[in-house]
Amino acid sequence: MKMVKTPVYMDNHATTRVDPRVLEAMLPYFGEMYGNAGSTTHYFGWAAKTRVGQARATIAELLGAKTKEIIFTSGATESNNLALCGAAAKLADKGKHIISVSSEHPSVLDPLVKLQRSGFELTLLPVTQAGLITAQQVDEAVRDNTILVSVMLANNEIGVIHPIRRIAEVCRRRGVLLHCDATQAIGKMPVHVDELGVDLMSFSAHKIYGPKGIGALYVRSRKPRVRLQSLIDGGGQEGGLRSGTLNVPGIIGLARAMELCYEAMPEEPLRLRQLRNRLWEGLTSSLSDVTLNGPALDDANLRLPDNLNVSFGHVDGEALLMSMKDLALSTGSACSSSNPEPSHVLRALGLGHDLTLGSVRFGLGRFNTAEEVEFAIELVTQTVTRLRGMSSLA
Ligand SMILES: *Cc1c(COP(=O)(O)O)cnc(C)c1O
Repeated sequence: MKMVKTPVYMDNHATTRVDPRVLEAMLPYFGEMYGNAGSTTHYFGWAAKTRVGQARATIAELLGAKTKEIIFTSGATESNNLALCGAAAKLADKGKHIISVSSEHPSVLDPLVKLQRSGFELTLLPVTQAGLITAQQVDEAVRDNTILVSVMLANNEIGVIHPIRRIAEVCRRRGVLLHCDATQAIGKMPVHVDELGVDLMSFSAHKIYGPKGIGALYVRSRKPRVRLQSLIDGGGQEGGLRSGTLNVPGIIGLARAMELCYEAMPEEPLRLRQLRNRLWEGLTSSLSDVTLNGPALDDANLRLPDNLNVSFGHVDGEALLMSMKDLALSTGSACSSSNPEPSHVLRALGLGHDLTLGSVRFGLGRFNTAEEVEFAIELVTQTVTRLRGMSSLA
């Protein structure tokens, strides 16, 4: 086998390594620049506040937003909760119907189910076999009392990219707010809030080579002005929408991480797409009975460049991963790994039980090399072949 440093990490949809350039930008703010950005009476506070302002401006500019539209949170989970529960609370007297999709992340689905238990009506749209919904499905689901639509930009398990711009046109025409979980899409494709037409948008630093525990919510300030009810109250930070002392190093890290991703476009997504396509080609040329889950790989508009989700027939995905200590992959979604149920996303695609259990997700990233891809092809091929041999003996 090719010589690579093991174990090899290919689980970049779950989290990513902090880029050394991001760490470098953050370090002074753990050290001598330790001020509270809310302290207005001394140098330490001013320095932190100024730097947070710069970071906010950088993020806003990259997304085509205004600085006051960026609300810092602890990550995309909190951003999703704030967007959905915060908007629902403000709009409850206008209507109680919310539309989303069956393959959303648990941090969207679980708050929506909670809202449903408290009296909201929820429509979860089914997806096609490729994992897609259409704008027409949204249009048909909107009712007189619909207040909110939530659709992710790119899916974390199968990398499918939803037609958000067209969905936004429907939402605008029908007078309904659109929330978008863009956590997996940011940094891998152009994301601009006005071009997409979103009203609320969640994202997170640790999926784009930034630190864990910091994210943001974009909240549109005009046409329409979106109003939210806060979930966390206290000192009134972030315009009262999210109290708590600002995570200064994290905010600086998020801004630097986004800057680096935008600087590396479009070359880096192209490099990842080539590596991903080589991975698929290598696996399918040496193994039979390998199924691609999600949309075709050749349509760059329909699938993230870094994602490959495959099912190996007659092999249990969990058993496969446990047999490969030198390669870090995941089955289903790590976000719900405490839950032994097969992936709700793959079930939403209509995959049979066997293929759902045999599925494995490869998430390529900035630090993966062509040698590592060759290593993964060889190791997975050997291991699947061995496991299949064992099961035919049994
Ligand atoms: C990882 C992820 C989240 C959760 O983000 P955290 O910052 O870890 O809370 C939400 N949505 C999607 C699509 C994700 O991939």
